[in-house]
Amino acid sequence: MTDFDVIVIGAGPAGCKTAELIAGNGYKVLVVEEHDEIGKPVQCTGIDSHRILELSGVSEKIVLNKVKKARFYSESKNYLELNSKKWVYVIDRHKLDFEIAKKAIKNGAEILTSTRFKDLNIEKDHVKVFTKNGSYTCKILVGADGPNSTVAKKANIDLPKNYLVGYQETIKGYFKENIVELWFGKNITPDFFAWVVPENEKWARVGLASKINAINYFRNFVDMRFHHILNKKDVLGGIIRYGLIKDSTYERILLVGDAASQVKPYSGGGIIYGLIGARFAANTCVEAIKSENYSHKFLNKFYDKQWKKKLSPAIKRGLILHKTLHLSNRILDIGINMLKPFSNMLENLDMDLLFD
Ligand SMILES: Cc1cc2nc3c(=O)[nH]c(=O)nc-3n(C[C@H](O)[C@H](O)[C@H](O)COP(=O)(O)OP(=O)(O)OC[C@H]3O[C@@H](n4cnc5c(N)ncnc54)[C@H](O)[C@@H]3O)c2cc1C
Repeated sequence: MTDFDVIVIGAGPAGCKTAELIAGNGYKVLVVEEHDEIGKPVQCTGIDSHRILELSGVSEKIVLNKVKKARFYSESKNYLELNSKKWVYVIDRHKLDFEIAKKAIKNGAEILTSTRFKDLNIEKDHVKVFTKNGSYTCKILVGADGPNSTVAKKANIDLPKNYLVGYQETIKGYFKENIVELWFGKNITPDFFAWVVPENEKWARVGLASKINAINYFRNFVDMRFHHILNKKDVLGGIIRYGLIKDSTYERILLVGDAASQVKPYSGGGIIYGLIGARFAANTCVEAIKSENYSHKFLNKFYDKQWKKKLSPAIKRGLILHKTLHLSNRILDIGINMLKPFSNMLENLDMDLLFD
């Protein structure tokens, strides 16, 4: 007998959704979260495609703003404006995590906050999970503990080496609430792009990502983009790891969400892919428990191979797009000018690159 059928490390969207679905099948699930409060601190801009509501199962109460236009700027302030046929949502990220956690609890999962996962031991018929507040046993351990997954480290699972540091402040100003701005150029940030995502007409989430010196690039960008800053709130930062993980499984262990780099390489967004990953993770855990097969081979076949069938084409497309982030300013301007006449044809673009 184990204390739990499944222990999930990390109460982010991927971990809570996995727990919700497994508990919904009648299994005993524990979620271990190091922070005191679910969904805090927020490390996210909270911009996601129309898929967010269906995949999370949460109502529109998490939506702060809806946008349909994106402007792609070069350093010379030349821009391409694209309209999306579908709404893109700016969400309250704390509420998203909290609402999915509530669903997990409703289905019978337990959530332990203020409890840091420290280590694991794979034994003959269970996994022993060591936390700061004691140890627990389970049949399967799910690492949903973000881009620097300790579960992956302890299980010797290699993570993709590519990473960026994201930095963001919510800035007071005058914004068009239906337009997202994306700024590209080597002087803005050499490795990625900067964003201005309006919450409403007065506040926007302004940030960028870079391999190094993200805060310096951010200060320069803000000086260039805003002449006068009235106020700011919600300063945040975080790691974005991207690329296709070699194998997200081990004996009795699987990784989901950012821990498995289920992330769009061209935008750093991971909520949609992580929620898709959670479905595969939950189904696999249920199948493993039913068939009492927790081998690496089984988990690789039913989880790693299956989620990759769905997400790896999109991740590969994202890796190609990521390369265009390194184009010179001159080429960026040429590209923007060339695409302008075709902007209407791009309105069906799927921002998740899933095309399903
Ligand atoms: C600046 C920035 C902006 C972003 N903007 C967007 C965006 O607009 N849209 C989007 O889709 N994505 C965005 N992302 C990415 C998004 O935040 C992640 O993809 C998403 O949070 C992944 O969810 P997750 O559940 O896999 O992991 P997380 O949300 O990282 O959750 C992991 C959880 O595990 C916990 N944890 C970690 N280690 C331990 C441990 N040892 N013991 C116990 N608990 C532990 C953490 O406290 C955390 O609660 C952004 C990221 C950054 C850095």
